[in-house]
Amino acid sequence: MTQSNRRSFLKQTLATTASGWTLAAGVGFGNELRSDDERGLSIAPFRFDVTPPIGHSCCGGWIKPVEVVDDSLDAIGFVLLGTGKPVVLCAVDWTGLLNEAHVEWRKALAEAAGTTPDRVAVQCVHQHNAPFVCLEAERIVAAQGDLPHIVDVDFFNACLDRAKKAVTAAIPKAERITHVASSQGKVEKVASNRRIYRDENGRVKAMRGSSCRDPKLRALTEGLIDPWLKTVAFYSGDKKIVSCHYYATHPMSYYADGRVTSDFSGLARKQRQRDDPGCTHIYLTGCAGNIAAGKYNDGSKEARPVLTRRVYEGIVRSEENLIPVPVGNAIWKTVELLPPANDVFSADVLEKQINNKDNAVVSRNRPSYTLAWLRRAKQRIPIVLSSLNIGHVRMMNLPAECFIEYQLRAQKMQPEKFVATAAYGDGGPWYIPIKEEYANGGYEVSVAFSNSKTDGLLTKGMELLLS
Ligand SMILES: [Zn+2]
Repeated sequence: MTQSNRRSFLKQTLATTASGWTLAAGVGFGNELRSDDERGLSIAPFRFDVTPPIGHSCCGGWIKPVEVVDDSLDAIGFVLLGTGKPVVLCAVDWTGLLNEAHVEWRKALAEAAGTTPDRVAVQCVHQHNAPFVCLEAERIVAAQGDLPHIVDVDFFNACLDRAKKAVTAAIPKAERITHVASSQGKVEKVASNRRIYRDENGRVKAMRGSSCRDPKLRALTEGLIDPWLKTVAFYSGDKKIVSCHYYATHPMSYYADGRVTSDFSGLARKQRQRDDPGCTHIYLTGCAGNIAAGKYNDGSKEARPVLTRRVYEGIVRSEENLIPVPVGNAIWKTVELLPPANDVFSADVLEKQINNKDNAVVSRNRPSYTLAWLRRAKQRIPIVLSSLNIGHVRMMNLPAECFIEYQLRAQKMQPEKFVATAAYGDGGPWYIPIKEEYANGGYEVSVAFSNSKTDGLLTKGMELLLS
């Protein structure tokens, strides 16, 4: 497929997700589907391997590429049948899937499941010794000739083939859902706010990253977090078939050492999976844009198993509280969002940075993601947000690196409902701070590709999804 064909195809795919709503306001209704099958709902879990090969770039190519695989990266999800056309949710152990790459994943899963891409949510867990995929950014760096690739496109396509095979094989084994359950358990001493160290005007002075060795920063309070790990589980009779766990933190203990790992969140999920092999366990990262383990993580080898155990205990605590209730109607809602590009970025300046061979790799590969976003924003290709609403349960899928305030806000919008939020869907806009935080600077704001108007649009989108 040529570049321009690919672009027009992308537009077409996304255009069909709308139902006549104009996107002038930057956010619009997609559609709403109720379960209409008299046989009720059934679910088909699937998993497939997405571990990158030796030599593959990690995190966009500016950290050490893959040298060793310590443990596999997986894509784990389910197909939900009986809601009109099937619905697919898939969690991927990658840093991110951006723009066209995200659409390609949804398209592949949709094709295999016999549905349309707007009924597929793909959410990354956001580990960093992992692929961070934007196909437009890859074309930009590949044209330079001297830069590390962002993604090996053959490997990317091989993953999509595996996706199709896994989904095709799963569907005939779908099991009837009779009950759904929700619960939460507190995770102790993992999440902490990265933007806690401020001056008297509220401006961020230093970041408490995913790991932190500065005792002054570690001594500061956790700051605003969501300590609750939330679980939504599906049952067939008394058999738990699928259990989805949601927790908001960057999942890295240490990285940039060329050792592929699903890291502490993935390792906790794997441990739970070993304990409970009859059920498919899925882990989704919440709105963790400003959240990481820095207060509790010095980045040492010893810290990883400690953080793994704490997340694992949160999963166990949460699952102890599951009380299955008969499953009702399922509604799949989508909303289209066009986050406006941040004016601080200009294509000319970015192109100069990328072309400047004296710049470090990070200062050339990273701007290629920004440039890819500006090009997409110009084409007005929207992001699709979605929510699976079953009884009192809301499983909401948001894009990119949303700040924690968004998921707390979502819970406040529907206090009687159980709102579980996954972020790191379409990663095109990178960080999505709340509007007040743009003035306060810091790393996250410096790589927020969309402007502060995104806050109001995203909030409106969440209201539409959750109501
Ligand atoms: Zn991040």
